[in-house]
Amino acid sequence: MTAAIPLVWSDAHRRHAPTAEIWLGVRTPAVELPVRADAIRAALEAAGHPVVAATAHDDAALEAVHDPALLAFLAGAYADWTAAGLPDDPGQPEVVPYFFPNPALLGTIAPAVPAATWARTGFFAFDTMTPIGPGTWAAARGGADTALTACDLVAGGAPAAYACCRPPGHHVTRAAYGGACYLNNAAIAAAALRDRLGDPVAIVDVDAHHGNGAQSIFYADGGVRTGSVHVDPAQGWFPHFLGFAGEAGEGDGTGANRNLLLAPGSGDGPWVAAVEELARWASGARALVVALGVDAAAGDPESPLQVTQDGYRAAGRALGALGLPTVVVQEGGYDPGTIGGLVAATLAGLADGISNGGHG
Ligand SMILES: [Zn+2]
Repeated sequence: MTAAIPLVWSDAHRRHAPTAEIWLGVRTPAVELPVRADAIRAALEAAGHPVVAATAHDDAALEAVHDPALLAFLAGAYADWTAAGLPDDPGQPEVVPYFFPNPALLGTIAPAVPAATWARTGFFAFDTMTPIGPGTWAAARGGADTALTACDLVAGGAPAAYACCRPPGHHVTRAAYGGACYLNNAAIAAAALRDRLGDPVAIVDVDAHHGNGAQSIFYADGGVRTGSVHVDPAQGWFPHFLGFAGEAGEGDGTGANRNLLLAPGSGDGPWVAAVEELARWASGARALVVALGVDAAAGDPESPLQVTQDGYRAAGRALGALGLPTVVVQEGGYDPGTIGGLVAATLAGLADGISNGGHG
């Protein structure tokens, strides 16, 4: 038996408590809420996982995967928004975009950051559902520190560590945020592990939605293999424009990206088989990052997949059997009543896989 996988934690996540998401121009209830991480922590503490406090890390670890202009925008956006009076007139309390530099608008002209505060958001955000409130940056920064602290544990010899990151991160590209994500914690972790343990590092993303952020960040970089199993975007699912089977990387990254698509309604059989295929594909890497979304579970309000808790346990077992130094980063999962059990089952499977496969 390996020791229980440590849970890395930052209280800063609670500072991101969005009041709404703007969807189709309508204020809809936010679903990416503090109760998510608190439910996961409660389940993991009950299962005996020790809690490790996240420690502060330098911005250089973020700049390894993100444009400094995006980081500066996120850090200052709320202060700029309030200084411009936008919470009072027109009455929007959180930072949201309204106008986007669509490539077909600009042609060959490169976009510049707009002068107007209310227009600037559209330069960095790719959707309207990812509001920035007073504590969003602190929470996102705490999430990155959580992932980086998990990397420290694994680089120091722990077989695996779980980073309870909130808000999630896997939709964020080098220079643009969205999909309820602000900093790409899985990509930040992969870059940190590559620095410490060498390349290639593999990211396996089991969230119900495509891990478009890591795909984009490492698309021409063979040093980080990126794989994602997700519901088929061609059947109407976010991120709609990306996540197709033909996206395989380019340049030095040719062949280093894999997308495995599932039909809506898919359950344990095809989902676990896809995770096992990505695990085989990741074998031989120096380290593994698991982007653990549990929104593929039956009953999750954000996806049509039908995976069970046993399915997540089997996925954990397949990934643990690789025997790689492993950082698990929390992504989606939006049913507070079930996400704790789903994460606990995945980590139990991972520990089983490690003790049976990786370290005899
Ligand atoms: Zn998701």
